[in-house]
Amino acid sequence: MATCKECKCFFALEGSEEKGDCIHRVVDPRQAYYKARPVDADQEAASCESFQKR
Ligand code: SF4
Repeated sequence: MATCKECKCFFALEGSEEKGDCIHRVVDPRQAYYKARPVDADQEAASCESFQKR
């Protein structure tokens, strides 16, 4: 089963194997920016629509 740490959007926190940020580039007509939220490395990714295999 895929987990967040196998996803391109996952960036591990420094000094941690278990925690990281899920970071997405968001583009709307006026601007592009990054959206980040904390996730666990072994969080289930099967139900995530944004999962992208590394
Ligand atoms: S929450 Fe989804 S997009 Fe974010 S790191 Fe996990 S699988 Fe990837």
